[in-house]
Amino acid sequence: MKEKVEIKKFFLKIFEKVKRLILLRSLRARLFLIILLVGVVPCIFMRYGIVDNYEEKAVERRITEVSNELMIIGNHLIANNYLGDYLSDDASVMSSRKVIDAELEILSNLYDGRIMIINSNLKVITDTYDLSEGKTIISEEVIRCFQGVNATHYDPEHGYIELTTPIINTATTGNGTNAEVTSRIEGVMLTSISSASIVAMMEELHRNALLVEMVLIIIILALAFFLANVLTRPLARVTDAINEVKAGYSNESISVPDYVETIHIVDAFNQLLKRMKALDDSRQEFVANVSHELKTPMTSMKVLADSLVAQPDVPVELYREFMEDIVSEIDRENRIITDLLALVKMDKTAQEVNITSVNINDLTEMILKRLRPLARKKEVEVVFESIRPVVAEVDEVKMSLVMTNLVENAIKYNTAHGWVKVVLDADHQYFTFEVRDSGVGIPEESLAYIYERFYRVDKSHSRESGGTGLGLAITRNAVLMHRGSITVTSKEGEGSCFVVKIPLTYISA
Ligand code: ADP
Repeated sequence: MKEKVEIKKFFLKIFEKVKRLILLRSLRARLFLIILLVGVVPCIFMRYGIVDNYEEKAVERRITEVSNELMIIGNHLIANNYLGDYLSDDASVMSSRKVIDAELEILSNLYDGRIMIINSNLKVITDTYDLSEGKTIISEEVIRCFQGVNATHYDPEHGYIELTTPIINTATTGNGTNAEVTSRIEGVMLTSISSASIVAMMEELHRNALLVEMVLIIIILALAFFLANVLTRPLARVTDAINEVKAGYSNESISVPDYVETIHIVDAFNQLLKRMKALDDSRQEFVANVSHELKTPMTSMKVLADSLVAQPDVPVELYREFMEDIVSEIDRENRIITDLLALVKMDKTAQEVNITSVNINDLTEMILKRLRPLARKKEVEVVFESIRPVVAEVDEVKMSLVMTNLVENAIKYNTAHGWVKVVLDADHQYFTFEVRDSGVGIPEESLAYIYERFYRVDKSHSRESGGTGLGLAITRNAVLMHRGSITVTSKEGEGSCFVVKIPLTYISA
């Protein structure tokens, strides 16, 4: 059973590999094919080129050779009046005819062919095959040859070359400057020679070329395989290096400097790794901060409770005092948890904003009304200046968190008899919510960190005033969610000014 599963797995693996190769998803397969094609196609063309070229040249040469020989024989024919005397049985004529017949015989044997001499009546007067003598030949080539057009024809299928050669009688009449040369076609030689030797040579050449081609193809195949492997090796190295990081063997940046492309891939990966490390570090820091912040009130409560338990007769007043302290620590713990939940919720629901058209003036009035008791307690005067009525598309809950945090901070980090001024203004695109105070201000070196979670300039002051260090982190998240911006200017001992700028119409991502 187990074996069966193994065999099935093996075949599935092979099937997958073949499928991948067929679809050419593998770069190595593509390179292999390209190199193979670039190497093999010219080889094949070269073979056909060589053989075809040889055939053409060999036929041409054979035709020239035979034509020359035939022309010489033609001159003999004219000189001996072969065509005129072909019926004569005069002994001297017969002997010169025999000489020419022998010449024709030698030529036809030499080229393994047949020569026919045809006179102007289209009658065959000599045939080296002795088959057509006395017959009349009416063929297009012969007639055209009488008209002065020589024809050659190569039939590779049946392996012969046919050519017609005119027998020209050139006569000179008159003398001196009046000499006139006339030429007359008296007969035609119809020759067909075998091209078997050319074909045999060609076949030999073909065989040899094929052999060379096969050897070349094998070399190219091996080369293509080798090159495809070597060229894709750096990519495999990139994968190996990434896998090592993934498996946790290494945490270092990787480096595969073989190609510009691998350098780019590796750079991108290293940057991703860096970002992930930074994220991991910030998460760890956040967890550490949360634990620390949550532990502090717990430690205070434990100290308070322990000291009560340790004393046998604790006066009721001391009990009450310690219990009140414990209650305030519980409140603090609660606040931290509430803020943390708000922050986490903000991260989680980054996409889920509940946008409605909100009257910002009314919202500000409502928030200030809620915070006035705190301001009274701190003896801080809160002023609201609305430059124009503002209605904007915002998430009302998140926007009230922004406003509450800023105004609450301005009251909390203020001095007795100080003031807080809230100004609401708008242009055609954005509205601005400005909170200015006459408070303690923020030191310049701390300005860059105030939006970080749990960051507080003066820890004890912040704790006294119930701060968790999460307020501005929540505020900034909410502002960014509305595609807005938050800026701060502050001077230690003089006061701070926070300006929030939010688009009037919500821009979704
Ligand atoms: P907290 O809960 O401590 O107020 P926040 O995130 O709201 O935390 O603020 C971070 C720190 O920035 C505060 O601890 C405080 O030191 C400083 N800060 C914020 N607003 C003001 C302000 N208006 N004036 C002076 N300091 C401020």
